[in-house]
Amino acid sequence: MVRVLIKTGISLVIALGVLIAVLIIRSLPYASSSSIQAKNPDNQININSDRLAQNLAMAVQFKTISHQQADKFDGEAFLSFQKWLRKTYPNFYKVVTTETVAGYSQLNTWAGSNPSLAPMVFLAHQDVVPADESAKSGWQHPPFAGVIADGFVWGRGSIDNKGSLIGLLEAADLLAAKGFAPQRTLIFAFGHDEEIGGGGADAMSDILKLRGISPWAVIDEGGAITTNMPDIAGPVARIGVAEKGYLTITLTARAVGGHSSTPPKITALGEISRAIAALEANPFEQKLDPVLIKMLHATARSEEVGFVNRVILSNLWLFGPLVENKMKKSKSGAALLGTTIAPTMLNAGIKENALPREAVAFVNFRISARNSVSSVIDHVIKSIDNPAIEVAIIRPPGIEPSPVSQIDSGPYLWLKDAIDAGFPGTLIAPNVVLMATDSRHYAKVTDDIYRFAPYIFDSSDLTRLHGLNERIGIENLAHGVQVYHLMLERAGSLPET
Ligand SMILES: [Zn+2]
Repeated sequence: MVRVLIKTGISLVIALGVLIAVLIIRSLPYASSSSIQAKNPDNQININSDRLAQNLAMAVQFKTISHQQADKFDGEAFLSFQKWLRKTYPNFYKVVTTETVAGYSQLNTWAGSNPSLAPMVFLAHQDVVPADESAKSGWQHPPFAGVIADGFVWGRGSIDNKGSLIGLLEAADLLAAKGFAPQRTLIFAFGHDEEIGGGGADAMSDILKLRGISPWAVIDEGGAITTNMPDIAGPVARIGVAEKGYLTITLTARAVGGHSSTPPKITALGEISRAIAALEANPFEQKLDPVLIKMLHATARSEEVGFVNRVILSNLWLFGPLVENKMKKSKSGAALLGTTIAPTMLNAGIKENALPREAVAFVNFRISARNSVSSVIDHVIKSIDNPAIEVAIIRPPGIEPSPVSQIDSGPYLWLKDAIDAGFPGTLIAPNVVLMATDSRHYAKVTDDIYRFAPYIFDSSDLTRLHGLNERIGIENLAHGVQVYHLMLERAGSLPET
């Protein structure tokens, strides 16, 4: 008996030893220490940062606002903005063919000399979300004044997305001025209504489809170099290789109504509240998917995660559930793991002593790649389990989750090389974008969409998007133009792979 126990003990020790060895061997090596200040001397170009900052500040002053109410749209603002762009970037507009699409979107084609190379498409949008301009709004500088102060350009759109628009135009204008002639056709598609659905992007993508153009890759906003994030403090270049889907539904409960002195057992409001509670009690599956696994593997290479976390992140085949549990505890981690359920509005009743005849709840979903619009609807109906509740999709119709672009092959490698040249030593990780961008409309012409702008943002910058005190650092902006320059130059001269 004792012998058997000793034997079992020895076997267990050996098995444990083998397991530890496997875990350590499978652990990814640390990446070399990174510094985002370093720049590749081969790619240095002269940028006049003062002029650049002034140009972005000017761009902010055009109130190219996307309002939810269509009658507030100011077409004049877009036309004068475009007139100013042409005046400010004459070299660019000389080399491209410009087409106006859907009234205010701009499709610019810089024809390459080699028609056998599939074009590359760069996206940016001209419109911005509204901002409170009153003195009590909390903005340090008025949102549309285009103020330059403390090393920043302040104002609505300075990041989202005039930061990208101006960055791309500065870089392309410099290239055009020095006589660059791309082999690959470069297309610059500037939408005008990204913040309210992106009809312009949809129309531009239709034109590409009609012309039989299937881009080698599409580059859009939705990713950047992040620092000081909750998961990792050091710089990480996050390339959005997929985007969650989007759906808003209404749940409607109807009742007879009448005087509140004689209510029925269950009212319309009671019925709708039960439906929402049932839905929240039935969350969607939260699980690591292949993109997240690659993202975590990439972060495992950071020096700052430490030895134990590196072993855990490198061995998700064993520690996946542990990591999932940790991610579920944060809102952004949970959102990455699965489809989210967010009740956002509730409409019912007109008088405090009258029973409403109808109660309507709006619920917004961000759909993970494991679900679809129809599987979400099925889940809702099953969870609520009440045929008296009417389920309907509100306009615009739901958006399916995007396909996943190539990782570690094709255009991803081109982008990775460009990021590595522009931000030497920075960790590069694929990511799933939780919000919707214009790029989703291009899924009908290419599978390879990458959401990345070469700017550095920390977690506080990200709260300024669509929020108060949006701003971008001038040095950050100037360095981003260097990297855009490098991206465009390489895209234009890269042989087919
Ligand atoms: Zn945007």
